[in-house]
Amino acid sequence: MTTDQDCPDCSDGGERLEQLYRYLDGALTAEDIEQVRAHVAECPDCHHQQELELLIRSAVRRSCQEKAPAQLRATIMTRITQISTTVRRG
Ligand SMILES: [Zn+2]
Repeated sequence: MTTDQDCPDCSDGGERLEQLYRYLDGALTAEDIEQVRAHVAECPDCHHQQELELLIRSAVRRSCQEKAPAQLRATIMTRITQISTTVRRG
């Protein structure tokens, strides 16, 4: 009954993992960033997780680069306004 996980931080409730995601989101303070970095450096599990996440993110970023989300939202809002105006006119 042994697991490969030798890291109590990330196996216990995944708190460290959650922090890793926040770190990748840039939502951590400089102090927290140092903690996560130090942990990832010595924890193969979290290191692997981070690499996976970075791969996914760079892939998403690459595929979204051409379309600006803000502009897309503006287009959708314009559409909705047009539709509701049309509906109101009959
Ligand atoms: Zn870990």
